Amino acid sequence: MRIPCPLCGPRDRREFYYYGSDDYLNRPGEDAPPEAWDDHLHLRDNPAGLTRDLWYHEQGCAAWIELHRNTVTHEILSARLVAERAGAAGANGASTGTSRKKAAAPAKGTKA
Ligand SMILES: [Zn+2]
Repeated sequence: MRIPCPLCGPRDRREFYYYGSDDYLNRPGEDAPPEAWDDHLHLRDNPAGLTRDLWYHEQGCAAWIELHRNTVTHEILSARLVAERAGAAGANGASTGTSRKKAAAPAKGTKA
């Protein structure tokens, strides 16, 4: 399977890390009950047919990509950067989705 990376063009599937359904981007609210978090973190659908899922271009540009594809025919209908999704942080073009958050610095007075 070849995946059309929006930044690099069509690339071999082995360059990518598969993360799963794009449902992972829809996090429950802070006040959500434990069942909602259990569902979000552990329960996955395994659809035969159309799906939207997340791929990380691990051996390429390091972008997160949302693929709309058919798991039966292997047809890829669209590919776009996760950073360009509506509501994504940096969706105004300020980010390409390749930046990584720095680890939080330890609080003062704590031993490393
Ligand atoms: Zn890429």
